[in-house]
Amino acid sequence: MNIEVKLTDTPKPKPTDESKLGFGSIFTDHMFIMEFNGDKGWEHARIEKFHDIAVSPAANVFHYGQEVFEGMKAYYNSGEIFIFRPDMNAKRINNSLQRLCMPKIDEEDFVEAVKKFVEVEKEWVPKSDGTTLYLRPFVIGLDSKLGVHPSSNYYFIIIAAPGGAYYARGIAPVSIWVEDEYVRAVRGGVGFTKTGGNYAASLLGQEKAEEHGCEQTLWLDGVERKYIEEVGSMNICFKIDGKIVTPMLNGSILPGVTRDSVITLCKDFGYEVEERRVSLDELMKAADSGKLEECFGTGTACVISPVGYLVNKDKKIVINEGKIGSLSQKLYDTLTGIQYNKLEDKHNWRVKVC
Ligand SMILES: *Cc1c(COP(=O)(O)O)cnc(C)c1O
Repeated sequence: MNIEVKLTDTPKPKPTDESKLGFGSIFTDHMFIMEFNGDKGWEHARIEKFHDIAVSPAANVFHYGQEVFEGMKAYYNSGEIFIFRPDMNAKRINNSLQRLCMPKIDEEDFVEAVKKFVEVEKEWVPKSDGTTLYLRPFVIGLDSKLGVHPSSNYYFIIIAAPGGAYYARGIAPVSIWVEDEYVRAVRGGVGFTKTGGNYAASLLGQEKAEEHGCEQTLWLDGVERKYIEEVGSMNICFKIDGKIVTPMLNGSILPGVTRDSVITLCKDFGYEVEERRVSLDELMKAADSGKLEECFGTGTACVISPVGYLVNKDKKIVINEGKIGSLSQKLYDTLTGIQYNKLEDKHNWRVKVC
C-alpha cells in the first residue's frame, strides 16, 4: 500500500507531565485516513494533520450506525516502540466490517497503516512506566441517503491519544454490578463486533451500576439472563477451585485479544482452562463455598482488572477479600512485560514499529 505522508507545519506542544495524561482527551498531530469509493475500492491512503472531517448530516453513520472500531496501544521502552498482536485487530475489524455490510480492509494494509502511523507519531508515545499511545482505528459509512442501505463510500481513519498509566495508584480491584434487566447483545446480533451501537446500548446499564455504587456492569446473556457474558469493555475470567473458567465465545461476546492472550498464558502456566457457559448461579454457589478464588476483567485498556466485589440485587459477594489475586498479578506482569519488551515473547505477539 502506498501511504502518502504530509506532515503538519504547526505541530502541537506535547504534554510535559505524563502523570496527568488521563485517557483519550488529547490527540496527536496527525491522523491516518483512506477512502472507500464504491467500485474503486480503498484508495488515497495518507497521513496528514489531525483535522475535523466534513460529512453530510445525512451520512449513514449518523442515522443507521455503520461504524466499527478497534482499540490498540503502542508501548515505549529504551528508544524502541512496539505494538501487540496487530494481526488479531486486523482480523477482528474485518469480522466487524463484514457483519455490518461494510467493505473489508486487507489485513496487511491494516497493520502497515497502524505501524506507519505510529512511526510518524513516535515522539507522542509517552515514556513513563505504564503509559501508552492509545490507537483508535475506525470505519464510518458516508452515503447521504436516508433509505436504509449499506453505504458505498467510507472513511477508514486512525487517530491516537497519549494515555496515562491505567493503574497510576496501583492495581485497585473494581466493583461490579450484575445487570439482570437490560442486556448488551444477543446471539445473532452484533455483540461480537466492535461497533458503536453496542456501547450506546450499554450506557443505561452503566448508569444503573453507578447508582448502585459499582464501577462497571456485568452483562448476562440476552435470552435466559442466566449466563455470564462480559463486563463493559472487558471480557471476564474466573479462577474456580484451581481451574480457569471464562465464558465461551457465542456470538454475543466480544472476542478480546487480551482474553485470547490470557487463555494462552494460563495454559503456559499449567492451568486447566475451560471456555464454556458459566451461569450466575454457578458463580454464586462457588462464592458461597469459598471456591471462587479470583475474578478479573481483561481488555487492552486495563490489561487485567481484578474484581473485588460483585453485587447481585441486594447480595454482595467479596472475592479474594477484595484484593488482587496472585494469578491476576502474574498475568498482568507477564502481559505488560511482553508488551514493553521486558520479557521473552515466545508466542511472537510483540511487533516492533521502530
Ligand atoms: C474491546 C472490547 C473488549 C476487549 O477486547 P481486547 O481486544 O482485549 O481489548 C471486551 N469487550 C468489549 C465489549 C469490547 O468492546
